[in-house]
Amino acid sequence: MKCPFCQEEMSQGHLESGRYFTWKAKDERGKKREYLLMKSYMGGAKLSGEICPYCRKLILDIPESQI
Ligand SMILES: [Zn+2]
Repeated sequence: MKCPFCQEEMSQGHLESGRYFTWKAKDERGKKREYLLMKSYMGGAKLSGEICPYCRKLILDIPESQI
């Protein structure tokens, strides 16, 4: 796919971590929220996505029902 920021071609791959991927953010009241994006019981958790080496952005696919 084309990068939505610079329009160059992105390259497919996946991001690997330990057993969990979490996203930490604050809601509209400034309260901390933590979302568990992915959990793996065997080996590392992987999220598929595309990377742009030109403007250094990642676009990741998050499994359904996680957010
Ligand atoms: Zn780009």
